Amino acid sequence: MSTHELAAALVGWIGGGIVNYLADVLPTVRRLSRPICPDCRETRRWQDVILPQACRSCGRGRWLRAWLVNLFLAGFSLYLWTSPPASLGFWPSWIALLYFATVFVIDFEHRLILHSTSLFGFGLALWIGNLRQGWTATLLGGLAGFGIVIMLYLLGMVFTRLRARRLQAANLEPDDEEAFGAGDVILATILGLMLGWPLAWFGLLFGILLGGVVSAVLLVILWLSGRFHPWATFIPFGPFFLTSAFLILYAPQLVRFLVPK
Ligand SMILES: [Zn+2]
Repeated sequence: MSTHELAAALVGWIGGGIVNYLADVLPTVRRLSRPICPDCRETRRWQDVILPQACRSCGRGRWLRAWLVNLFLAGFSLYLWTSPPASLGFWPSWIALLYFATVFVIDFEHRLILHSTSLFGFGLALWIGNLRQGWTATLLGGLAGFGIVIMLYLLGMVFTRLRARRLQAANLEPDDEEAFGAGDVILATILGLMLGWPLAWFGLLFGILLGGVVSAVLLVILWLSGRFHPWATFIPFGPFFLTSAFLILYAPQLVRFLVPK
């Protein structure tokens, strides 16, 4: 491994620390504070976040997530250094990688897409989109992302009403789950801007497909374990949109079957 490659992996590891810090702090206090433990809210030391260590006061600290994020970002930064996506280069790709990882972890852990990350995402997506495909295709991609998912969102609202009625009829507590949330609409717009037209369309479709396949597998598992209730199971789509856009952006050779020439 050359010095440059070692540096790239190290930069990735530090990026992992930043992602872990943001994923601990943003959903809990909604601003950039000193590092805190999301479980007991005690202040943590920076070196415990970067390395990463369990919380010194409650012993927890989501170290499995922390290590996975650090290792993934270190490995992926090394990959970006050796083969950065065409027309982006290392640093824009690296910053976008941090955005993807942060939104993914927060959505996965809290089923939440925060306004702060979305605001950052809009700026980032305009920059990345313009680097990749110029303004016109970027703005068209954003419009497509917004249009496709807002339609699904409206459909989802009808479904949610129906579902609330079924839950009541089945004597289950109605909840406020939505098939698609407003956060998904915002996320789809951001990813649409990044991918540009016409890739936005393929990216979202692939994301919905991925979500559908994983949901189907989960439903079968629930059904086999006797916990299946057709009106009481929902999958958040955010992580699937992120995964799909991530693959198209960083590893188009893996998803060539859906990327038009
Ligand atoms: Zn703690």
